Amino acid sequence: MNDQQLLRYSRHILLDPIGIEGQDRLLASRALIVGAGGLGCPSALYLAAAGVGTLVIADDDDVDLTNLQRQILHREHSVGRAKVESARETLHDINPGTEVIALKKRLAGDELLEQVAAADVVLDCSDNFATRHAINRACVRHRKPLVSGAAIRFDGQAAVFDLRRPDSACYHCLFPEGEDIEEVRCAVMGVFAPIVGIIGTMQAAEALKLIIGCGTSLDGRLLLLDGLAMEWRSVSLGRDPGCAVCAREPRPA
Ligand SMILES: [Zn+2]
Repeated sequence: MNDQQLLRYSRHILLDPIGIEGQDRLLASRALIVGAGGLGCPSALYLAAAGVGTLVIADDDDVDLTNLQRQILHREHSVGRAKVESARETLHDINPGTEVIALKKRLAGDELLEQVAAADVVLDCSDNFATRHAINRACVRHRKPLVSGAAIRFDGQAAVFDLRRPDSACYHCLFPEGEDIEEVRCAVMGVFAPIVGIIGTMQAAEALKLIIGCGTSLDGRLLLLDGLAMEWRSVSLGRDPGCAVCAREPRPA
């Protein structure tokens, strides 16, 4: 780190579990964020401000006026532009030291696998089950830690699937594909603006901890937020030995 970086990140460096070594890890790290919406915006803001070296952000959408109520990377003058370009611009203003790779597409297939393989941590900030399951499969395949978040109405949830560990559950263990889970979208149901901020910020915190290797991650727990009552619940997650996704992939013993 040069003098400017030592100063910029001094409040991290002061923290014993981070220090210069932890900050160096952040600067050398690469995070993949799928979705530049309500969850992706606060996640990306904190990862960039905290000094993550490379941020890959994938989203195929353009900024819409209805997004501005909660998607805090985007500005009114960006309505109609690609969300990932709007995100890159704002993040660059905050920290030009973070390289933002903007992918205006719905990541899928080999490209998703390649991006997951190249990442140190993956943040699922998407809003649909098909994408969530595709990200999970790629993370299981490449044994990457997956930080998952979701929010709708006044409710939010966050979980970590640290797939580097042999005993960790995957997203599919928790929400098996094909089960009749009702897909609810913000566009239809509405979402209270700060809920995505709370959950997305937690995703950023967990991603940073996983990169640094400090503290205890959310791995093995699902946190559920009732934002109207402002109450949290924690549910323990176990690996499903019959899971169609992670039980088939060999894991290190
Ligand atoms: Zn599984």
